[in-house]
Amino acid sequence: MCGVVGIWGHPEAAKLTYLGLHALQHRGQEAAGIVSAHPDQPFTRHVGRGLVSDIFGKDALARLDGPHALGHVRYSTTGLSETVNAQPFRVKTARGELALAHNGNIVNEQEVRTDLEHRGSIFTTGSDTEVLLHLLAHSRAPRLADRIREAAAQVEGAYSLVLLTDSALVGVRDPSGYRPLWLGRVGEAYVLVSETSALSLIEGIQIREIEPGEIVTITDKGVHSERLVHDPNAPAQSCIFELVYFSRPDSFMFGQSVYEARFDMGRKLAAESPANADVVIAVPDSGIPAALGYADASGIPYKPGLIRSHYVGRTFIEPEQSIRNFGVKLKLSAVRAVLEGKRVVVVDDSIVRGTTSRKIVKILRDAGAVEVHIRISSPPSRFPCYYGINTPTQKELIAAKNSVEEVGDYITADSLSYISLEGLHQSVGDLSIGDPHFCNACFSGNYTAGAPTIRSRLAIVH
Ligand code: AMP
Repeated sequence: MCGVVGIWGHPEAAKLTYLGLHALQHRGQEAAGIVSAHPDQPFTRHVGRGLVSDIFGKDALARLDGPHALGHVRYSTTGLSETVNAQPFRVKTARGELALAHNGNIVNEQEVRTDLEHRGSIFTTGSDTEVLLHLLAHSRAPRLADRIREAAAQVEGAYSLVLLTDSALVGVRDPSGYRPLWLGRVGEAYVLVSETSALSLIEGIQIREIEPGEIVTITDKGVHSERLVHDPNAPAQSCIFELVYFSRPDSFMFGQSVYEARFDMGRKLAAESPANADVVIAVPDSGIPAALGYADASGIPYKPGLIRSHYVGRTFIEPEQSIRNFGVKLKLSAVRAVLEGKRVVVVDDSIVRGTTSRKIVKILRDAGAVEVHIRISSPPSRFPCYYGINTPTQKELIAAKNSVEEVGDYITADSLSYISLEGLHQSVGDLSIGDPHFCNACFSGNYTAGAPTIRSRLAIVH
């Protein structure tokens, strides 16, 4: 889970990249970086740990000059959370400088890494992105797009990539299109971004989503598109969890509005799992669009029964269990005036370990709720994601080993229901679950790009 911004041909490329990264901050809060480029001059790079606003001061941004830039926010899926793993990576190759930013996860990373090591590669990080860089460096193909094609043929998994060289900005989406990537414009400049929220912030216009299996090369001459693989009929397997939880609701992604997809999930959930209740509330912020949909379809009024403090980050993302545990209380507080004496439906997007929901039920009862009915706008999360969403191991996923009833008992809810897998697919426009256009491996265990070998799995550090 990461976010990328690339800009080609703007006098303030790094500053726009910095602003764009702010609009992608939800995609990773562990580290961030920007590489900027002037024609025929060495690239400039600045990376650090933490939030975008903490990493880039006035001085750093002033040093990042040049008309081209590439930025990244990181949320570790593979590799330790150290600055050395912060992206974009930047290397000097025989053909000039190259910077690379990656959103996704390579599942056969360990095998490819070992093979490269046997061929003489020396790695400096634990990141799967460095494996991609070495594959590109090993290729003898004259064109960058051909080198990308050769590298892609050796890796499996999820990758939306943006590369910056002296002469081009290049965007790539893996053939299944797991992770998003957009092409846009700001004035005369071209932009590549993970989500349209970044384009809106820099007052850019949306051109189109990069297609699954497409390579887009942006140069001073314009935009050139070619295929990564020659299989236009291969079905897309975009990540359904981007629409459930991860992306920002003001973004447009995989051909739809993220807000509308979530609203529809809530409507579907209300039809599938009604509740006798006085009020619908959301777990803010991620549960709000689905709660509005639930209220719309059920006729039960929506009210803000929980308030989120915006001054603490997403606790799940913090690697330490101890931080996560008191995080819920730091972040959420109940509105007694909404809850007292009421039968409450609480809508959230997902239950991972169950710790958040359990604490929320307690907070709501303490504030006077007489019944608490939990409704979840995704099916039970039973399987880890190997394609770029940071999920815990399977044994930590509460729904992996427990029935819905047992999860409901653990979180002490009066009732618990999840949306069905069919209902979820319908909410995002998949009419038949037999022919899905979305990856649902976290719910079904159906890993369409394969699961990592035990060796690679052990290397995935959460
Ligand atoms: P838990 O307490 O582990 O059950 O966490 C559940 C909460 O984590 C839900 O409110 C979700 O909004 C949120 N969540 C779900 N998946 C993720 C993820 N991959 N990263 C961060 N937060 C998540």
